Amino acid sequence: MNTFFLTTPIYYVNSHPHLGHAYTTIVADAMTRFQRLMGRDAIFITGTDEHGDKIVQAAEKAGQEVGAFSTVISAEFRALWPQLNTRPAAFIRTTDPEHKRLVQEFLHRVHAAGDIYFGEYSGHYCYGCERFYTDKELEGGLCPQHQVKPDFISEKNYFFRMSRHQEWLTRHIRDNPDFIQPERYRTEVLTLLDSGILDDLCISRPKTRLTWGIELPFDSRYVCYVWFDALLSYISAIGGVGSAGYERYWPQAQHLVAKDILKPHAIFWPTMLRAGGVPLYRRLNVHGYWLTRETKMSKSLGNIVTPLDMAARYGLDAFRYFLLREMHFGSDANFSEEGLVARLNADLANDLGNLFSRVLSMVSRYCAGAVPAPAGDTDLESALKDLALECLANFQALFDAYRFSQALESLWELVRALNKYVDSAAPWTLAKKGDAKRLGTVLYTLLECMRKTALHLWPVMPEKAEDMYRQLGLVFQADTVLLPREKESFGLLNAGLPLPAPVSLFPRVD
Ligand SMILES: [Zn+2]
Repeated sequence: MNTFFLTTPIYYVNSHPHLGHAYTTIVADAMTRFQRLMGRDAIFITGTDEHGDKIVQAAEKAGQEVGAFSTVISAEFRALWPQLNTRPAAFIRTTDPEHKRLVQEFLHRVHAAGDIYFGEYSGHYCYGCERFYTDKELEGGLCPQHQVKPDFISEKNYFFRMSRHQEWLTRHIRDNPDFIQPERYRTEVLTLLDSGILDDLCISRPKTRLTWGIELPFDSRYVCYVWFDALLSYISAIGGVGSAGYERYWPQAQHLVAKDILKPHAIFWPTMLRAGGVPLYRRLNVHGYWLTRETKMSKSLGNIVTPLDMAARYGLDAFRYFLLREMHFGSDANFSEEGLVARLNADLANDLGNLFSRVLSMVSRYCAGAVPAPAGDTDLESALKDLALECLANFQALFDAYRFSQALESLWELVRALNKYVDSAAPWTLAKKGDAKRLGTVLYTLLECMRKTALHLWPVMPEKAEDMYRQLGLVFQADTVLLPREKESFGLLNAGLPLPAPVSLFPRVD
């Protein structure tokens, strides 16, 4: 089946949505739109992770009941996505009754298969991280993340026999280079697996310490620890194992995560799936952090860029473009307002905006505002068309590989070539000479390449791409478009089509 299925992490409701969340979700949306244009039945899903100590603490701090607190923050996330023009097919909450039922079912299955046992555990527990630390992992006796002294806790808990799965998982990652991407993260996981025996995973918390969680189906004194609960949301969001949604989408499942949750997704999750008798996901895609002044962007550090502020100030599509163009997927990138404005002015206003306004005003002036008919190509057109098809082929291959920045760079190679072509073909001289045939060829070639450019930009800048389409006399309909044929031929724009009066698409920002 020609499907595409991508998940964002389910976001933790201990803080408000910030730039990192916006980036991941915009990437998921852009990729899903791209896959639709490639002819696939493509969806992405998102949601919120609502159980655990940290949420209880955040709720207490806010003076609210934990359930009500989660609901409010979860609603903030849900409300943000349409405002960023992202369209998830489902929004899952780990507090949804259906999700709880599916988690219990899955736990029951793994327990029945003998992969869960009851044992003693003691260690240094950091409430901020919601995890135990070994002596070796502590820095000067303190949690390396929070710089606080963890509590020493000894208690009985349930464990998942993760160590049993080390061998086949290592082999699977070695044999499938695409399973974890980009390559550096695959290497990181293999190094981790090679460095020693995988520990079994503690998957429960006693209710004496935590009640805000999903009760274990085989012991009502315990709730499920956060990963067994959270990761399973990827399957409950599409209806659970065996449902129609699962049959349709799970075989093509891909995950999108930031690097801080690499290990749970690369190691815990595949072993959980195997233990539960569920086929593995196809691919894990890992991105870096947005930095402001060299620190990770997060609420706790106080460097917040409110996504909606940036989108409101500079336009949502300019913001989306900046995020995808600026970050090399997998590496960290710097976010600054100056950087955004520089990209907006150079790429959007100067290169792309100028191209549209120059060409459209010439069509309005010289061709009575209608798409002219092309006559024969000269070497100039042949060379330009060769370059255009090459740039579009590169764009499609790179975008498909999550290399968004390089994909856009390829497209801009075309945009800049089109601007140069305007200068060398000099339509104004042709108009003055009354060479209507040649003038028609030049302007038609430009309009057709501009249509292709707009089309390829739709995943990144949906509204602007639709505006560009309108400027070319067309109505954008995602379901009628197929990108693969666009890198093979020209001539899908019809001569004689009347164009509306040109408007400025990307005004400069000072
Ligand atoms: Zn900590």
